[in-house]
Amino acid sequence: MDLLDFIFPKKCVNCGAWGKYVCEKCEVGLWEEEQICPTCRQASRYGLRHSYCRQPWGMEGLTCLWAYEGIARKLIKQAKYKLYYDYLSELLSSLSLSLRAEYSFFRRFLEEKPVVVPVPLWPKREKERGFNQAEVIARLFASRNSLLLNRNLLLRVKDTGRQVGRTREERLKAMEGAFQFKIFNLKFKIPEAVLLVDDVWTTGATMNECAKVLRQAGVRKVWGLVLAR
Ligand SMILES: [Zn+2]
Ligand SMILES: [Zn+2]
Repeated sequence: MDLLDFIFPKKCVNCGAWGKYVCEKCEVGLWEEEQICPTCRQASRYGLRHSYCRQPWGMEGLTCLWAYEGIARKLIKQAKYKLYYDYLSELLSSLSLSLRAEYSFFRRFLEEKPVVVPVPLWPKREKERGFNQAEVIARLFASRNSLLLNRNLLLRVKDTGRQVGRTREERLKAMEGAFQFKIFNLKFKIPEAVLLVDDVWTTGATMNECAKVLRQAGVRKVWGLVLAR
């Protein structure tokens, strides 16, 4: 037990038992998500984009760690409103990444040393909330995998409002032109590969728009990572 555990003892988010954020009894309520193609959103092994789904500015693949229900949903929702970064860290457990065959292509992508880029929040919203959850996840992931993080590569230049309640078409429309690639200076080298990170995948409108902007700026490969779908 480290000092932090002593000062802030862990409690199961589901049943309240002391010791862990998700106790062994409740762990069965955490489902691993099946992987999908980031373009057509149909099942795809390893999260790879289907060869017949090639589109000029798409993502190479997408890795979803958990199903957005039950315990995972509770953890992510609570982490959004309280500063429970540890919850996110729990969901990002490196164990699940290293063992599952589903992640083999994702691991191969990581060997290319992609720059880790979080999906940015609208600045006003980030100020209200105090942090960007996608950035917290990106930061944790980058440090655990010794990758570079660049939180400023993408800028959110349009307030897209809340996406809840909108159809997929409406979401896609709202996202158009919402992001910009930031060139720092003339010497700035555009990364070859980017790992784009968000907390939850709903329709993919946001991530696909970010991927498009990155690819159009000259990034050769973009892979998406979300905690849950
Ligand atoms: Zn429990
Ligand atoms: Zn597809």
